[in-house]
Amino acid sequence: LAPQCNVTFLPSEEGSGKGAALITAVARLYKSHPLVPELHTLSAELVTGLGRDTNTTATLKMLPTFVRSIPDGSEKGDFIALDLGGSNFRILRVKVSHEKKQTVQMESEIYDTPEDIIHGTGARLFDHVAECLGNFMEKHNIKDKKLPVGFTFSFPCQQTKLDEGFLITWTKRFKASGVEGMDVVQLLNKAIKKRGVSADIMAVVNDTVGTMMTCGFDDQRCEVGIIIGTGTNACYMEELRHIDLVEGDEGRMCVNTEWGAFGDDGRLEDIRTEFDREIDRGSLNPGSQLFEKMVSGMYMGELVRLILVKMAREGLLFEGRITPELLTKGKIETKHVSAIEKSKEGLIKAREILNKLGLEPSADDCIAVQHVCAIVSFRSASLVAATLAGILMRLKENKGASRLRTTVGIDGSLYKMHPQYARRLHKTVRRLVPDCDVRFLLSESGSGKDVFLNRTASALYIHSNTH
Ligand code: BGC
Ligand code: MG
Repeated sequence: LAPQCNVTFLPSEEGSGKGAALITAVARLYKSHPLVPELHTLSAELVTGLGRDTNTTATLKMLPTFVRSIPDGSEKGDFIALDLGGSNFRILRVKVSHEKKQTVQMESEIYDTPEDIIHGTGARLFDHVAECLGNFMEKHNIKDKKLPVGFTFSFPCQQTKLDEGFLITWTKRFKASGVEGMDVVQLLNKAIKKRGVSADIMAVVNDTVGTMMTCGFDDQRCEVGIIIGTGTNACYMEELRHIDLVEGDEGRMCVNTEWGAFGDDGRLEDIRTEFDREIDRGSLNPGSQLFEKMVSGMYMGELVRLILVKMAREGLLFEGRITPELLTKGKIETKHVSAIEKSKEGLIKAREILNKLGLEPSADDCIAVQHVCAIVSFRSASLVAATLAGILMRLKENKGASRLRTTVGIDGSLYKMHPQYARRLHKTVRRLVPDCDVRFLLSESGSGKDVFLNRTASALYIHSNTH
């Protein structure tokens, strides 16, 4: 009857006194809210970010990507793809051919990005990337092939063309010096030359854009790309006439919203909690990426840990016992939250994980901890649903249609690994925008095709598409 309302029903008595106290405490810690304000705020901020006079002060950067179309599936070639900034640093070789039927061959390696490298100098970081690329090419016997390289770089970049990207600011775990304000393509090309590797960077794309392109390969209707992983972000196809920063009025261009920064102007203060503030204070980028910090995989485990510490302190958990491990930052990771929320073994996992923290939880404690995990991950899925619904409303308005039929390409470790996340997200989106028929496509699912097509490869499809 009221699809725009997100109502939580709280039982007034939950059996034992402890249960009641717990539910009330948790509910107070994370008040539920209707999402509709966030949805409308995001829609409005998309417009602010697109305007010539308002762009510089907007919280959503709305970065033009110079990607003007989605692949049509006829692309072919032999490429290397670099993927830096997600939960893994990967290098891939992708061969797409069209003899009789389309085939995609892929080889990939994962490389370490130790903390001293991502927090050291930029020169060292790019030397490391170039060295891994050199090793990859040697190992795969393609040293002298001079294959084109696509670079998926999962950070906000200012672009005026495809093969240039000035890093605006680091986010997530990265903080290498001397890179902000610089063109990462140039930095990488320099490092590649220095190492004597023969390769040329042809395109740099955000991971959201790569995801949209990869899914677009399977479904031409795909016009949104989302990442819910270590960080979170979205891109979508905007009408060029609305993008003041780019010349031209015909057709569309993909815009990287950088929605992780939603709320950096204080607009989410009503729903941020003391735990969100503590996470922010302890982060590499205080005051920035506030939405991301409420939502993404890098922070979710830590949010749970902070809540458990507070509940234990108030005697609501573990009979008030607190261990040094429970007090240690990073000891609860998002993969633990995912494990605890599994429908069958979740409670057993909860016990195992708490035991590793030196705790001896009762059966009730395990249930309570599972409850906390569900509240934190549910809030994340609901917030992403609200912002995504904001983008869908925008697409619908752009098309002037009464119903929108569209496909959203999604990727990211949290979305993929968490047992309930995807279902909750889809459900909430459908409830918030009942006039949109949305298909959610996992970036690598390849719609029945026998291929595993990684998002990184798409950087090069874009290239072949525009030349
Ligand atoms: C970055 C985005 C990226 C997202 C997901 C955010 O921290 O600012 O550029 O798309 O993480 O990786
Ligand atoms: Mg324009």
